[in-house]
Amino acid sequence: MYDEDGNRYIDLINSWGPMIFGHAQPDIIDAAQSALVNSSSFGAPTEIEIEMAMLVADLVPSIEKVRMVNSGTEATMSAIRLSRGYTGKDKFIKFEGCYHGHGDSFLIAAGSGLVTLGVPDSPGVTKGTATDTLLARYNDLEQVQELVAKYKGQIAAIILEPVAGNMGLVLPEKGFLEGLRALCDAEEIVLIFDEVMTGFRLSLGGAQEVFGVLPDLTCLGKIVGGGLPVGAYGGKAEIMDHVSPAGPIYQAGTLSGNPVAMHAGVTMLNLLKKDSNVFTRLSETTEVLACEMQKLFDAADIPLCINRIGSMLTFFMQNGPVRNFDESKQSDLVLFGSFFREMLERGVYLPPSQFESLFISTCIGSSEIDQILGATTDALIKLSLSRQVSQDRKP
Ligand code: PLP
Repeated sequence: MYDEDGNRYIDLINSWGPMIFGHAQPDIIDAAQSALVNSSSFGAPTEIEIEMAMLVADLVPSIEKVRMVNSGTEATMSAIRLSRGYTGKDKFIKFEGCYHGHGDSFLIAAGSGLVTLGVPDSPGVTKGTATDTLLARYNDLEQVQELVAKYKGQIAAIILEPVAGNMGLVLPEKGFLEGLRALCDAEEIVLIFDEVMTGFRLSLGGAQEVFGVLPDLTCLGKIVGGGLPVGAYGGKAEIMDHVSPAGPIYQAGTLSGNPVAMHAGVTMLNLLKKDSNVFTRLSETTEVLACEMQKLFDAADIPLCINRIGSMLTFFMQNGPVRNFDESKQSDLVLFGSFFREMLERGVYLPPSQFESLFISTCIGSSEIDQILGATTDALIKLSLSRQVSQDRKP
């Protein structure tokens, strides 16, 4: 990737996920360009939207019916509305540190870890909205069970990132997803997996395929549009049939499913489908990167905990383990900032926050890994020196 001044970077963000084959993949560009000459939007369904729906339903294990929207935010907002309309209940549970886009009801502060009613996180979110959002700690099934018991019969949905990427990368512990599934079944709560990041990145069937736990509804984004503005939500036909015009729960979008985005997205999914080895290759590259980075930090005696799955990973500036938002926040943020800047100086574009995941693309090969490790070695020498200086200065 090149910036406005022509500086070259190895991109480890990849537009926060969708650029799984790197930027300007020729087949995706061709597909979008050839669709564009016919029109960028008709405001009516086209055949490619049907092809997309069939493909998504074929690839994602829990999806029987799917609705295309324009972003991940629209997908999660619509999935919550659908859950409420379907169950006739108002409240839902989200997890501290999980991000589901900028819909009002999701912008609720991560509390102190206690089970509590949310408070607005962003100005403009009303207290009334916040009241219906309940917070729980990621990987803490017991806390969720307590919440469900306390608000018995009032909870429409539990929504989570089945692998959390927005507090840095945090994996679900054994039994967590299974426990949520059982709880939702017992209490008639809609289980929503927000796979906006993990869908088509961890595997063709997303995290639900990797962990073998199926949600009732799934939210998709990013990769499903091949880098164009696309989102989707889908799941059991029995629930999706409540969306208008088949059912009474309203949701619509003039540009949803527009042919340019659909052509780009279908091409992306077909490329992934055709390249049966792609997820293994991405995972192997990422594992090498993680192992070598850990060695460099250990040698420099700087604490580092790496969480990784497939081609997603986070370098936490701490000893770990990191299993939830509270633990993620224990990281040395000043050190992270210095490391980020040193790496940027050396042409490596990391996410500019500790609370994000890196996304590796197929463009990262052994030569790029060598460059990243070279930059890390130099950055760590500089950081070790400045840590030494600040320690020497302490009285
Ligand atoms: N859900 C998750 C898990 C995300 O990571 C994001 C964005 O990063 C969203 C939802 C929102 O998607 P968008 O930015 O397309 O609105």
